[in-house]
Amino acid sequence: MADDIYLRYQSFKDQQEMEKEIQLRCPHKIDIGAVYSFRPKDHRTVPVFTPLQKELVFDIDMTDYDEIRSCCSGAAICTRCWRFMTIAVKVLDAALRETHTEQIYVLLPEDFGYEHILWVYSGRRGVHCWVCDAAARQLSQAARTALAEYLQVQTSTKCLLQRAYQLSQSDLACVLEEQNLGDAVLALLPESSVRGELKTAFQKCSSGAQMLATLEAHLEDLHLSKLALKELLCILVVLLITLPKSSELSIGYERHRSICFVKQKAGYKKGLRPMLLYEIALQLCYPRLDINVSKGLNHLLKSPFCVHPKTGRVCVPFSARDVDSFNPEDVPTVNKLISELDAWEGSDAAGAHYKRTSLAAYVSIFDKFLAGLALENTALRRDKNDELKEF
Ligand SMILES: [Zn+2]
Repeated sequence: MADDIYLRYQSFKDQQEMEKEIQLRCPHKIDIGAVYSFRPKDHRTVPVFTPLQKELVFDIDMTDYDEIRSCCSGAAICTRCWRFMTIAVKVLDAALRETHTEQIYVLLPEDFGYEHILWVYSGRRGVHCWVCDAAARQLSQAARTALAEYLQVQTSTKCLLQRAYQLSQSDLACVLEEQNLGDAVLALLPESSVRGELKTAFQKCSSGAQMLATLEAHLEDLHLSKLALKELLCILVVLLITLPKSSELSIGYERHRSICFVKQKAGYKKGLRPMLLYEIALQLCYPRLDINVSKGLNHLLKSPFCVHPKTGRVCVPFSARDVDSFNPEDVPTVNKLISELDAWEGSDAAGAHYKRTSLAAYVSIFDKFLAGLALENTALRRDKNDELKEF
């Protein structure tokens, strides 16, 4: 409601009751929580009030990229920094699903195999991911925590990193250019001699692709066998990514210690350089998850199709497959929808109101998603009935 007042534990017996309440109260936004053992409205009077199931959710917010985005700050976003979200969606979606037809998606044994994944633009500067498969909805708090931490790369997840690198490779040149990340890259290099050389070389580059080529050329001085290099690369990435965020883009004590450790371990001569490209790509592009949102069953997340109270934009679903062409600036605002409806009211055409607005395309993505989910639910109910019959 207005003034940050929250009315928790609302529940309704049917759609009609919910519609009536929404029209009466005009909430600024609606958050969705878990399915509980009793009607949430009665939570004070029932004996055991516990969450039974909840979608597995992820929240990625642009503020976590503030230290590396130079085009905007605060609540502002543009198509340039939106690229960080695009990469995050690709990497996370691939990790949560089982297969993809494109060659670039490598199937990992650790992948979760979820199918019913809804991606929603938050209306301002982030994205939400709702994993709605029955198996995901029934995950315990402990399982959610383990899963979220795995994806956050707190543990040694080499393969996940390799694929994240693959997926972000094509965007890396753009990010370098659009965010003017020359200095951030230089800060990741352990040797001051290389830093100096590269700084001069970067100044001559006029595009991100050139910067990347220059970087590659400087890192090419390879003295280790391919295998040793790959192994070393993984150790380095894991070490560096699990460091506290504050040290991510600086050459702090921890970073130095890690690099010394890796050098020692591999009998380092000059072979460290080729791995840095991989490390740099991941530091800049790996999804930055707010995993507290994913861990709990009690956490609330804004419902799809809410209007963001600050921007007026609708929280619309989008397809992860088409994420490259999703532009948050094209998402309709509530004012735009009102004027579209006003224009329509002049004509005498019939049909659902939203279909006459620019919201229709997004509703159709949502409908398709719900249809897939309904199929799964029907199949599950049938299995359950069969079990009962056998019993
Ligand atoms: Zn921007």
